[in-house]
Amino acid sequence: MALIVQKYGGTSVGNPERIKNVAKRVAKFQAQGHQVVVVVSAMSGETNKLIALAKEVQATPDPRELDAIMSTGEQVTTGLLSMALMDIGCKAKSYTGGQVKVLTDSTHTKARILSIDESNMRRDLDAGHVVVVAGFQGVDEHGNITTLGRGGSDTSGVALAAALKADECQIYTDVDGVYTTDPRVVPEAKKLDTITFEEMLEMASLGSKVLQIRSVEFAGKYKVKLRVLSSFQDEGEGTLITVEEDKNMEQPIISGIAFNRDEAKLTMLGVPDTPGIAYQILGSIADANIDVDMIIQNVGHDGTTDFSFTVNRGDFAKAQSILEGVKAKLGAREITGDNKICKVSAVGVGMRSHPGVASKMFKALADEGINIQMISTSEIKISVVLDEKYLELAVRMLHRTFGLDQ
Ligand code: ADP
Ligand code: ASP
Ligand code: MG
Repeated sequence: MALIVQKYGGTSVGNPERIKNVAKRVAKFQAQGHQVVVVVSAMSGETNKLIALAKEVQATPDPRELDAIMSTGEQVTTGLLSMALMDIGCKAKSYTGGQVKVLTDSTHTKARILSIDESNMRRDLDAGHVVVVAGFQGVDEHGNITTLGRGGSDTSGVALAAALKADECQIYTDVDGVYTTDPRVVPEAKKLDTITFEEMLEMASLGSKVLQIRSVEFAGKYKVKLRVLSSFQDEGEGTLITVEEDKNMEQPIISGIAFNRDEAKLTMLGVPDTPGIAYQILGSIADANIDVDMIIQNVGHDGTTDFSFTVNRGDFAKAQSILEGVKAKLGAREITGDNKICKVSAVGVGMRSHPGVASKMFKALADEGINIQMISTSEIKISVVLDEKYLELAVRMLHRTFGLDQ
């Protein structure tokens, strides 16, 4: 007998029929003698609807109240799935994050899980219930409802699996595993049987939304066996996220291409080239809780320099207005911004032992006449910032260049 945590995403529970199908799948596992904890997302589109509703009433929703609203989507699904399970003869019980208790910090809309009380779930499992838990949500030390950031049900699933020391955490979604790139953009993308944690972390952080990055971090930290599978297929092993790269196997140099449209670039031109400039610019951005991604400071000329960085597109306007203040203080010449950029990245642990990946990537982009605006590299990834209009072209072309469609 195994203890399995299964997480079903929005599309997988998108309507009553699909919820009934999920119930059948869960019942099948239980009938095989396993204990099952199910984590569900809101039905597809629901979270967006709830956010839009909130914004109709308050243009910039109060974060605590927004969490109270957004968390209801998942709660609906837990009740529906529990009823669907009862209808086919399974004992089932629904839980909100607070009822479990998934304790988080108090950072509304992007809270982090601090601890999980497994006692209620254990008791119900031992009594033969399927435990159905609302993903994406928790509760802080004062009893406030919190949410874990978009895509956060993945993290709920993995965190519950870690707390329960589950044998496996299965993430059921609308694709049958992790692909070499988003199969919606490149139909030739190939499903990977395995991918290392390191690579999956990079893919997730660079924009592949098949797993929320925090869920991968959690799985790596607590050694959770994590698998991505399709809720629409009965066969298939999906993709297993592995700890060790298989030393016996020849690693592909590049495992996948990730991309992110959600980017914006800001540049301060003619900044005095003196110590403390980066701190003064980025410090004020950090104080506003805005994450900075890539940073470039140019070689100075005549005592001044240019300083560029990228942020999430949603933070563009706010970052721009902060920079206006800093500009006056520093006596910089001008601020320019571009929120029509994207980031495309090649990821692979094989890069470590194979030089020349970057130049191959840059040549391929040059051959297509695509201008690179910024570059950043780490041991296992190369990212470039491009004009957004080249996104699909660049992804498809790099996928081919690195032989991922073979
Ligand atoms: P869920 O609602 O089940 O959480 P998501 O929409 O969050 O599902 O994530 C699944 C989607 O992630 C897929 O439909 C696919 O378009 C997208 N995706 C992006 N990159 C990849 C990738 N490398 N492999 C598989 N899917 C990917
Ligand atoms: N429903 C939430 C979202 O749409 C969480 C999730 O589905 O993972 O982001
Ligand atoms: Mg998701």
